[in-house]
Amino acid sequence: DISHKILLYVEGVSVSFDGFRALNDLSFYVDVGELRCVIGPNGAGKTTMMDVITGKTRPDSGHVFFGQTINLLELDEPRIAQAGIGRKFQKPTVFESHSVLENLELAMAGDKRVWSILFARLSGEQRDRIDEVLGIIGLREQAGGLAGALSHGQKQWLEIGMLLMQDPLLLLVDEPVAGMTHQEMDRTAELLLSLAGKHSVVVVEHDMDFVRSIARRVTVLHQGSVLAEGSMDEVQNDPRVVEVYLGE
Ligand code: ADP
Repeated sequence: DISHKILLYVEGVSVSFDGFRALNDLSFYVDVGELRCVIGPNGAGKTTMMDVITGKTRPDSGHVFFGQTINLLELDEPRIAQAGIGRKFQKPTVFESHSVLENLELAMAGDKRVWSILFARLSGEQRDRIDEVLGIIGLREQAGGLAGALSHGQKQWLEIGMLLMQDPLLLLVDEPVAGMTHQEMDRTAELLLSLAGKHSVVVVEHDMDFVRSIARRVTVLHQGSVLAEGSMDEVQNDPRVVEVYLGE
């Protein structure tokens, strides 16, 4: 019995938009501390699945549980975030006219006190956590500089750092390496791998080389359900997967 190791349960979820089934009896499970990649052709339902997990979209049927006891379908978006699920969209949304440090301070405050945090005194523990996150995302040297002056890749890492300030158990990351240089991609792979173990991480990504470099387990979505799941080698050699990608 390994059920105690599962963090996220998406079970038999269906979502329709005007009669079109974006998710079709989808079941998807994420273990505590694992790094999972989700791939699939355009329109497969990847974004809709993330929207269901974060409460942005309500399914027509099915169950979504976080741990054994938290029914995510009973919570609104802010409460799902509070329960420990952080989401990073493809486009970075850092506060460009604030420093890297201030961005992390604001993220730590969440939406509770917003700007007043900039004038508040941080506890030693909070400072330690910010410093730790600056190290994790590799931006210690840039801490005092404006977020707007960062490279595209650095902004993406800062945004991951901002999510980390809320200590999420599960991080959902949408196309983290789109528009990155090879060097930035390597650094992003290291960063995501370093988060696994402490956090569960689900990455939606189109770049197959990147997926291969980070994921032990890959889930292939197609027409709103799981088409295949396994190692990158297993799914890439699955004739059904080859067919849907060639047919794209
Ligand atoms: P992916 O992220 O894998 O590309 P999506 O989850 O965005 O796939 O979309 C799955 C299908 O659902 C697509 O055919 C898309 O057009 C449709 N869809 C997604 N969101 C909506 C919406 N809000 N209204 C209508 N159709 C939608």
